[in-house]
Amino acid sequence: MTAQIISGKDVAAAIRAELAREVADLSQKHHIVPGLATVLVGENPASVSYVTAKGKACEELGMKSLQFTLVAETTQDELLDLVDQLNRDPHVHGILVQLPLPKHIDESKVLYALDPNKDVDGFHPVNVGRLVIGEERFPPCTPAGIQELIVRSGTPTDGAEVVVVGRSNIVGKPIAIMMLQKKAGANSTVTVCHTRTRDMAAHTRRADILIVAAGKAKAITADMVKPGAVVIDVGVNRIGFTESGKAKLVGDVDFEAVKEVAGKITPVPGGVGPMTITMLMKNTLRAAKLRI
Ligand code: NAP
Repeated sequence: MTAQIISGKDVAAAIRAELAREVADLSQKHHIVPGLATVLVGENPASVSYVTAKGKACEELGMKSLQFTLVAETTQDELLDLVDQLNRDPHVHGILVQLPLPKHIDESKVLYALDPNKDVDGFHPVNVGRLVIGEERFPPCTPAGIQELIVRSGTPTDGAEVVVVGRSNIVGKPIAIMMLQKKAGANSTVTVCHTRTRDMAAHTRRADILIVAAGKAKAITADMVKPGAVVIDVGVNRIGFTESGKAKLVGDVDFEAVKEVAGKITPVPGGVGPMTITMLMKNTLRAAKLRI
């Protein structure tokens, strides 16, 4: 039987409609309009398009978007000055410094300089610590989106075997910690696999929920998936470049084969992708609510 498709587009649209109502309510009752400042250094085309999409999402939800575009030669001190200014600006509730930064800037220094109460990406060590002890304020956006997809697709998580492939700080580790928490939508038994894992298929075949964030096309094939499992494909890989520079976007999962084994599966594109910016909006709203 072919798996049910979990549409990130549909789930993201439903969450955005909820957020738009909350934004209107916050403005009416407390005269607060959530404001997100995005900081872009240089002209990396992917970063430019991410920042543009974030600004557009803000405006669609009735939030304020402030975009700061700095030249690639900006010094670390100049960037730290801007962060300090945004930390102190009462109209700015969330700050997002778009990564990667140019090589001459120490990313950790900049991220650590953010006010943790405005760190809507959730990468400041204070927010990472809060996440670990189950008192999260700003869960990182991609893992938060993954958890929403699991919960809103009606997938039971209590006692479920969750296997995460990948241990990065932005996806693998945080989603593993989130699914482990003693909370609704979590309470799972979690295994994390990586490139040193012996016999990865033995782990993935046990998974009721398989979350794949490896950054490797076809890392997961049909024989690695338990029949009926829920498969969340986080990967974004560009393959088959044409001469004009166009490429096909695929995930980490061999979608066509795995959808014949899995119970539910996210597509790429249209799965986890649309959720990430939506969760950034949710964190920005949360940051604004801290002001009440
Ligand atoms: P990353 O920092 O490169 O980490 C990849 C992780 O996967 C590493 O822990 C690596 O293990 C592990 N890994 C790689 N190949 C493996 C294999 N064959 N078997 C087992 N483990 C393997 O990547 P990331 O930032 O977490 O991102 C992962 C993917 O998700 C990328 O394709 C990225 O583009 C995508 N992504 C999508 C979104 C979205 O919004 N849709 C957001 C973020 C990331 P080691 O630690 O041993 O090296």
